Amino acid sequence: MQVITDAKAMRRWSQAHRAAGRSVSLVPTMGYLHLGHLSLVKEALSRSDVCVVSIYVNPAQFAANEDFGTYPRDEQGDLRKLKELGVHAVFMPERLYVVEVCGDKTDGDEENLRTNSPASNSPETNSPVSNSPPETKAAHETYVTAEQLQVGLCSKTRPHFFRGVATVVAKLFNICEPDVAVFGKKDYQQLRVVQRVVRDLDFAIDVVGAPLERETDGLAMSSRNARLTADHRANALAISRGLLVLKNKVATSHRGLDEQTLANEVREIRTGITEAGGEVDYVEVCDQESLVPVKTLPAGAKAVCLVAAKFGDVRLLDNAELGGEA
Ligand code: AMP
Repeated sequence: MQVITDAKAMRRWSQAHRAAGRSVSLVPTMGYLHLGHLSLVKEALSRSDVCVVSIYVNPAQFAANEDFGTYPRDEQGDLRKLKELGVHAVFMPERLYVVEVCGDKTDGDEENLRTNSPASNSPETNSPVSNSPPETKAAHETYVTAEQLQVGLCSKTRPHFFRGVATVVAKLFNICEPDVAVFGKKDYQQLRVVQRVVRDLDFAIDVVGAPLERETDGLAMSSRNARLTADHRANALAISRGLLVLKNKVATSHRGLDEQTLANEVREIRTGITEAGGEVDYVEVCDQESLVPVKTLPAGAKAVCLVAAKFGDVRLLDNAELGGEA
């Protein structure tokens, strides 16, 4: 397994495989890998000849007050897990996207720029020619946005989030040039945003949505679960419990759910989370593709119920597809 930190070397690796007739898959991650991530890797390996996993805690998707600095990291553990699975390359860029945190981004003050980790390599900036030392290169300023899909749900509290994801994923696509990229349905809105970007910008990449993996007691697997206290970890089960009740109700209701019934079900999920000590960000039932909220679920209709809630200072996401998969 090759560990690559340089974007040009990554591109050369991928191009060499493609030139030799091998298909390339990519699994983008932020590391601290758990079985949910590894299920994506297995899916990617089954769909390609060679697989690259990227590990990059993307500063562009964190606001200044969020958990960028405390996001869990375990580089050695991640590399061991990926090697065991037979991954062919790991792309670990130091500075894929440099964001301005505060102040004047042109003043070259490194204090004002947020990078993935302390600077050690030259930055991957877009300036082809520069006589300046690396520290004086300006922050990146180009963003990719999916205008409609990034409205609502997670964007209400994290308005910066999806453009940060879409931009860095677009960069990863340009650098790794994969035939297939696998994303988890755990981050449902993210998956739909990436699929929309790929469609709209004509990336020749098959984006696969892999199933959400859960702990045996139902909690959606997440790197952030490691930061839950024991009490919050137990109480957070209210999220998956509530979603399962709704999923079963839809599966067994032959006449569908009218507006009032659906609203009651959503209220039940909210109440369950709140009574367990959680702070609900949203519980919404939406169209699976457009993520536009739906008010009723006619018999046979497909939708997805999406939840975000905080337990302590840990924000958790979960969702359940209702009526099957679109
Ligand atoms: P992250 O490292 O959190 O950015 O996640 C990297 C990828 O793993 C994303 O496509 C996530 O949707 C996916 N992922 C994270 N947790 C899970 C899970 N429990 N089940 C399936 N996919 C997941």
